[in-house]
Amino acid sequence: MVRVRFAPSPTGFLHIGSARTAVFNWLHARHAGGKFLLRVEDTDLKRSEARFLDEILDDLRWLGLDWDEEPLFQSRRFDVYRAKAAELVAAGRAYKDGDAVLFRVAPGRTIAYDDLVHGPIAVESDTLKDQVLIKSDGSPTYNFSCVVDDAHMGITHILRGDDHISNTPKQILFYEAFGLAPPRFGHMPLILGPDGSKLSKRHGGVSVEEYRREGFLPEALANYLILLGWMPRDGRELMTAAEAASRFEIAEMSGVQAKFDLQKLRWLNAWYIAMAPGERLVPDVRQRLEAAGTGTSAFPDDYVSRVVDLYRVRAKTVGEFPPMIDLFFREDFAFEDGGRALLDAPGNRDLLAALAGRLDTLPDFSRAAIEAAFRALAEERGLKAAAVVHPARMAVSGKSKGAGLFEMMEVLGRERAVARLRRAAHA
Ligand code: GLU
Repeated sequence: MVRVRFAPSPTGFLHIGSARTAVFNWLHARHAGGKFLLRVEDTDLKRSEARFLDEILDDLRWLGLDWDEEPLFQSRRFDVYRAKAAELVAAGRAYKDGDAVLFRVAPGRTIAYDDLVHGPIAVESDTLKDQVLIKSDGSPTYNFSCVVDDAHMGITHILRGDDHISNTPKQILFYEAFGLAPPRFGHMPLILGPDGSKLSKRHGGVSVEEYRREGFLPEALANYLILLGWMPRDGRELMTAAEAASRFEIAEMSGVQAKFDLQKLRWLNAWYIAMAPGERLVPDVRQRLEAAGTGTSAFPDDYVSRVVDLYRVRAKTVGEFPPMIDLFFREDFAFEDGGRALLDAPGNRDLLAALAGRLDTLPDFSRAAIEAAFRALAEERGLKAAAVVHPARMAVSGKSKGAGLFEMMEVLGRERAVARLRRAAHA
């Protein structure tokens, strides 16, 4: 049975590269009907913090990466690592150096394995020094605790970043010394910025938490991370992690280049925002409005949902909603530069007053009826429809762009739409 693990060190937020590692291990487990396990690599007691672990677990849940079994904590297993090191000392494969324990690397060996992503890899043991297993402070090295625990957890496949490629031959030697068959290893190319440099803040963000905060949906981020390590043979790029799991083949991961493309992620996010059910977006949008100082408690979910529906095709992140839609939740909304001047232009106040009068007496305040009233007024005055629409849009929203004006007015409702027109007319 396939058993894979994700092994974060809780010394910082979940890096986007680590999140990709988690996604692929999860995909392989779910594809194969195996287990996806967590191991907390908290051997660095000084730098490991509970708040980072909480964040990492929360980000994994948010991404939809559910795990099986209880997480294993390395900080609770120091005595196991020491006992395992003592076994190797007793077998003559390791030796003590003060309080440290070192693994004896035999010269003249070729350590070879077939990497799941890169293909055959071979390293000469002559290039390796003896390896520290237990440091003089009694704590294990990463390579040693990793092997002890991967063996203990029955891990069959290890997918991780290329930054670990030089560790793998050392880990294989430890498996051999314990008389165990190593798992299969696959190393994924590191995620780079579009310019080929190390991924950094200026490329968009390095932690999952930053993308969450900006209003990326978990489906979009997971979908994007999948594309940073695998391209399905049929070329269909839009897929949730669950959809990808049924199609994913570990053998198709080879040769992947991982350049981070924020525009592509934003495009995916826009698609998931467009498709998301209203009840998914409403609480998030409310919370972001509140955080931006616009109260929403006076408005029912149904109203917020209708506003979101008007604007969802215009938003690439949920974070983009508040400045576009706060006008639906407050009467003291801001006017864009030049907005007031448009209202002051000759004839516009009179036009808006006349429009307000017509809308006030419409039998039904539907977008179609509103539009008909606009057209009728424009025609009577010998104006183009745009000459009425532009000042009216400014009066009602403070903006020259946005959702369709008639839809906006319908959602605002007769009372508020008419009041806004009158306020502009009498300013
Ligand atoms: N804690 C290690 C890391 O975050 C795990 C490496 C591994 O998967 O073996 O890089």
